[in-house]
Amino acid sequence: MTTLSGKTALVTGSTSGIGLGIAVSLAKAGANVVLNGFGDASKVIADVQQFGTRVGHHPADVSDPLQIAEMIAYAEREFGGVDILVNNAGIQHVAAVEDFPVERWDSIIAINLSSVFHSTRLCLPRMRAENWGRIINIASVHGQVGSVGKAAYVAAKHGVIGLTKVVGLETATTQVTCNAICPGWVLTPLVQKQIDDRAATGIDPQQAQHDLLVEKQPSLAFVTPPQLGELVLFLCSEAGSQVRGAAWNIDGGWLAQ
Ligand code: NAD
Repeated sequence: MTTLSGKTALVTGSTSGIGLGIAVSLAKAGANVVLNGFGDASKVIADVQQFGTRVGHHPADVSDPLQIAEMIAYAEREFGGVDILVNNAGIQHVAAVEDFPVERWDSIIAINLSSVFHSTRLCLPRMRAENWGRIINIASVHGQVGSVGKAAYVAAKHGVIGLTKVVGLETATTQVTCNAICPGWVLTPLVQKQIDDRAATGIDPQQAQHDLLVEKQPSLAFVTPPQLGELVLFLCSEAGSQVRGAAWNIDGGWLAQ
């Protein structure tokens, strides 16, 4: 089992869904964890604290580069700095390109893509100085293929994979690695909303969930946050140290089609 004792992980967007699952896995493996995200953080902090490591929360809105800088300064001040950066915060909006609200485009690009650039550029100097670091970007299968109605999300996630390759190359001779994980469907609030939108057209909710899987995910089963947490732990391990600039699918077969 990977021990991350003495390391500090910052997981953006970790008050819910995938980010929370990854934060739990990192704490179980011994890392101190800085959580981030909206909503009441007290229950989430308690969930992650049960493994006995130090846990903090910073409420930065990652669409704002100044707030990202404040969050990383907090991690340095309170935890000594970020060793493992998981860029996970993300939002979705579904509409055809010609109807896509301009402000939604701007916020998806800011949260799902630009925040990855800002947190990476701010965390890298310390990782280089320590000559150890892990940058793990939660992209998506939508970083590699498109789907109708998801122009901003697909553009941002393709951008995340491009950025991951460049950072992977720029750090290639160091003990810092940068990789992307590309999940298929994971049943989180982000995806539940898409199921609810289908059900709102009059379809039975169970049928709406089944239809969502059948369209894209051959396993007909959701990927789970703990499974994603285990993949993060592998990328943090010595065995994962030569995985660099990769975009790693964990998608029930979505991209094999
Ligand atoms: P979620 O809605 O359950 O959680 C999103 C988290 O991001 C929450 O903690 C929320 O508070 C936080 N967040 C949102 N906007 C923020 C902002 N401006 N600043 C700071 N935090 C913010 O979503 P999820 O499904 O767990 O998604 C997490 C990541 O995984 C996203 O990047 C998403 O694109 C990606 N992803 C999800 C799926 C899926 O099927 N759920 C598949 C592939 C990729």
